[in-house]
Amino acid sequence: MRDTSKLPRNDVQNGRKVQDMQKNEPSLPDLTDYDLSRYIACHECDLLIHLPERLDVYTQVCCPRCSAKQFTVRKSPIDKTLAYALTALVLLSIAVSFPFLRIEASGIENSISLVQSPLTLFNEGYGMIATIVMLCVIALPAAYLLCLLLLLIPLFRGKSARASLVYAKLIDGMLPWIMVDVFVIGVLVALIKLIETADIILGTAFWAYIAFAAVFIGINTIVSKRQLWFWVVNAGKANAN
Ligand SMILES: [Zn+2]
Repeated sequence: MRDTSKLPRNDVQNGRKVQDMQKNEPSLPDLTDYDLSRYIACHECDLLIHLPERLDVYTQVCCPRCSAKQFTVRKSPIDKTLAYALTALVLLSIAVSFPFLRIEASGIENSISLVQSPLTLFNEGYGMIATIVMLCVIALPAAYLLCLLLLLIPLFRGKSARASLVYAKLIDGMLPWIMVDVFVIGVLVALIKLIETADIILGTAFWAYIAFAAVFIGINTIVSKRQLWFWVVNAGKANAN
């Protein structure tokens, strides 16, 4: 309710009654009257942008006030994301199953796998770093891809996905902790240093993880917060039917 004690005195002096003023004021719109899926808030300036009813494929939506890019309309994002997610899971499985690299120095040869590297760190007393490496490089990317599959497979088949909101929240929550690209850059920098002192033979897992990182980055270009929300809304509609 409006606090009339804070109204300026000259309103009353000008002969306008408070009740009349309230009657003349436009009432606040009821949010249920609007299709909220057709509104987005600009991530740069918070302007509420009303989307047109139809958006052609590859249309790039930008903020009319600050020109910040909001999103690009993609063709069949479910099919593409499913294909990418399955490919990424296969590549990650290869990366954890085969030797990552082999080092030869002074006649001694040693090979290491992707899973062995955090275990070695743990045995050396770096438990915290080992846990972070295991989580950010292997466990969370795998969990992210599984949640994505659980969200999208029912939508692809036109069936309901009851836990879609939970999967979407998990996907969005896990992403900041996944450091696939950081790991790849770190490995490449370490290899440049090691190559001066030892012979390095890159294993199957190394190439598989590089390919996995590239596919994973491709997935992230599609799976935005907005895209996740639209998938959740579509899953809700499937539930209603
Ligand atoms: Zn803006």
